Amino acid sequence: MHPFSLSRADDPAKAIAAHAFDPQLAFVAGGTDLIGLMKDRAALPERLLDINGLPNMARIEALPEGGVRIGALARMSDVAADTEVRRRFPVVAEALLFAASGQLRNMASIGGNIMQRTRCAYFRDEIGCRCNKRNRGSGCAAFHGLNRNHAIFGWSESCVATNPSDLAVALAAMDAIVIVQGKTGERLIPFADFHRLPGSTPERDNVLDRGDLIVAIEVPANVEASASHYLKVRDRASYEFALVSTAAAVEMDGRQIRSARLAMGGVAHKPWRLKPGCAEFRWTTSTGSVQRSLHRSPMPAPSPIMRSKSSLRSALPCVHCKPREHAHERCRTTDLTRRRPAQGGRRCTLHGRYFARRRSSCRNRL
Ligand SMILES: Cc1cc2nc3c(=O)[nH]c(=O)nc-3n(C[C@H](O)[C@H](O)[C@H](O)COP(=O)(O)OP(=O)(O)OC[C@H]3O[C@@H](n4cnc5c(N)ncnc54)[C@H](O)[C@@H]3O)c2cc1C
Ligand code: SF4
Repeated sequence: MHPFSLSRADDPAKAIAAHAFDPQLAFVAGGTDLIGLMKDRAALPERLLDINGLPNMARIEALPEGGVRIGALARMSDVAADTEVRRRFPVVAEALLFAASGQLRNMASIGGNIMQRTRCAYFRDEIGCRCNKRNRGSGCAAFHGLNRNHAIFGWSESCVATNPSDLAVALAAMDAIVIVQGKTGERLIPFADFHRLPGSTPERDNVLDRGDLIVAIEVPANVEASASHYLKVRDRASYEFALVSTAAAVEMDGRQIRSARLAMGGVAHKPWRLKPGCAEFRWTTSTGSVQRSLHRSPMPAPSPIMRSKSSLRSALPCVHCKPREHAHERCRTTDLTRRRPAQGGRRCTLHGRYFARRRSSCRNRL
């Protein structure tokens, strides 16, 4: 474990100043993501500043006009159980309950949740794989590697990682606002602008700078919110990150849907909000069954990962090529997935890729 010192903050202004002027200092709230990153050597701060003692940052307040203000230090389980959050924004409560495990939700904070880093296995690998997010310019091992959970929208050749937060998807659909205290005072950041696409600087996940402290998240009232839900497809029900997820909210006019809000998770470096500008949804209920038509206007090009995400069959774990792809990436020899039968490879019936029967050259077999 990377050695570090720990101190406790009781004054927001001092905490912000310390973070702004000390590049080796990191805020820690529940520690459920940061400590894991330190164990994996993907984050190596020398000083941790525990912000749990900062005043008024764990409150959950119902706002008079129908919204809610959630303090950044409120615990995921407390927000999910809050009666006003459940009544006004069921999608937020459901997204939280679909996330992590009960024990983690008791510890993890709302601010930490939207700040958590990608679960890309190469980024988190202790031995240090090729990863532009971790070491700029080192390459992206996931691009042709194990990338079943990776981006299909908004990706770049530098990085195809996805944002793992379930809550962020619900907040994006609700057009929440992140309230940040920084060196120059308070800023309100619309949720759609909080996370970044990777572009050529994938090391930056969001728009925060040194000295920025998230103090709260405000979810404004909207007509769709009370009829909102979160759906998540994942490999196991106990706890697992999303393969894909959707936050959906609708305003009904009788049996007709008047307006809708949609955001997707597990598909991009940030929660992927579908707006009328990029997709138009129309539902008709003429025969009693709901029909949906999705008219696509220009959308980003699908990534090489699209095939494995879009088919439920290939979304199932593959006992043949998945472990071999990982072994290949660790030993960094030839691309096993491109081997042809003549070279001793067998075709994976699920993914249509080739893998080698013999891997005698690999020193790191899994
Ligand atoms: C096994 C496991 C499974 C999980 N499954 C899911 C899942 O299915 N869905 C999901 O959404 N999440 C999942 N998570 C992630 C979990 O929800 C996050 O680890 C948690 O929400 C982070 O909150 P924290 O308070 O522990 O953050 P910390 O680990 O304390 O901090 C995380 C980051 O946020 C920064 N930070 C924290 N608070 C602030 C603040 N107020 N202002 C500025 N920066 C701040 C820290 O400096 C750090 O960089 C899982 C985690 C684990 C370990
Ligand atoms: S997808 Fe991003 S995080 Fe994963 S290996 Fe590539 S650069 Fe690193």
